[in-house]
Amino acid sequence: MHSGAASSVSIITIGDELLIGQTVDTNSAWMAMELNKAGFNIKRRVAVGDEWKAIWAALDEESQHAEVILITGGLGPTSDDITKPLLCSYFNGTLVRNEAAHQNVVDIFTRRLNRPLLERNLRQADVPDTCVVIQNKRGTAPGMWFEKNEKIFISMPGVPFEMKGMMTKDVIPGLLKRFNVQAVEHRTLLTAGIGESFLAEKLVEFERTLPKEIKLAYLPNYGMVRLRLSLLQTTLPVSVLEETFIQLQALVSEFMVVNKDITLQEAVAELLISTGKTLAVAESCTGGYIAHLITSIPGSSAFYLGGAVSYSNHLKQSMLHVEASTLAEHGAVSDETVRQMAEGVRLVAGADYGLATSGIMGPTGATPTKDLGLLWVACSSASGTVSTSFQFRFDRKRNIELSAAHALHFLRKNIG
Ligand code: AMP
Ligand code: MG
Repeated sequence: MHSGAASSVSIITIGDELLIGQTVDTNSAWMAMELNKAGFNIKRRVAVGDEWKAIWAALDEESQHAEVILITGGLGPTSDDITKPLLCSYFNGTLVRNEAAHQNVVDIFTRRLNRPLLERNLRQADVPDTCVVIQNKRGTAPGMWFEKNEKIFISMPGVPFEMKGMMTKDVIPGLLKRFNVQAVEHRTLLTAGIGESFLAEKLVEFERTLPKEIKLAYLPNYGMVRLRLSLLQTTLPVSVLEETFIQLQALVSEFMVVNKDITLQEAVAELLISTGKTLAVAESCTGGYIAHLITSIPGSSAFYLGGAVSYSNHLKQSMLHVEASTLAEHGAVSDETVRQMAEGVRLVAGADYGLATSGIMGPTGATPTKDLGLLWVACSSASGTVSTSFQFRFDRKRNIELSAAHALHFLRKNIG
């Protein structure tokens, strides 16, 4: 068994589309996160094109840096995918048909796809005889586990869903059997309404007295800052990390949204489910993005009733009963309108809470009195309606993301 310090990993992602940004390399980010959680040390991540020399050189290079080299991509049935013949040559093998993989390809084509099976597809089941095959229940390309000069090389398909299945079921468990790693302990909390510099000022003394085995990270995102404590060495018991985390919570209690590593929408969901309350959302400028964030949470139907993407003034009136005079006097992006939207959606849906957004996300639409990036948010309940405004200064996409985050935070603060 290798020692903990040797459990270093390098990730090679393969594909021309990754180099030009046509496909964003989400594989290596996901893999790195999972491996880090399991206690592995990620040394490097590199992307190369579907090019023989470049892939070969990357295998040589990365084995200088890590004990384990994980590879994704280039395993498709078309001629642009060359990873498998290359690995066969790199590890001095001969392609042989793998029975289980063959059966899997046949099953997928006859049961799932109901499409004629081509010889090209069957060749997906050919693997170098110098590897241990990792079966792929989610697709036709098997994974391959090689060992050479004390290094482990594992090749997986580029399709994220297939790679994730293999990583979870075979690769990480297999590596854990080989390396004596210790999962890194983290404690995370989420703050809102305070910038990272101000937070850092508040935490000067805390950081000064922090044990050297514990590291504090500031992770800003969408106007909120996550604070993460990590126990770097296991010479300290986890209880010290727990105590330090309690101190940290006390220091930032005024700004703390949640003391767990969950998203803001998950924090909202927890609160609504635990109090047995329901929510409906009326969105103008966020165009359904808040609804998307909420409905991406499994089980959100327990509290989320639905809502309206009421972009036009007409729909604000007909669906949400916003008064024509309100729109005429104050405009769609106004305190008065957003309050009526929140009340309207709550009453129409029969929800405990109604949340509404209306704003100008840019790059056009400013008026002499309303700047680009202006957001109005309202939250309505049986005990009344509250509202607030924000001013963002980014591009359209980021303004929408920030609007959704701040609206959710405003809602959470107002859930009794
Ligand atoms: P391949 O295994 O190269 O045939 O890739 C199959 C599919 O997975 C293609 O649609 C790729 O764009 C996608 N893909 C490949 N590598 C990655 C990656 N690193 N991150 C996300 N998607 C990828
Ligand atoms: Mg490819």
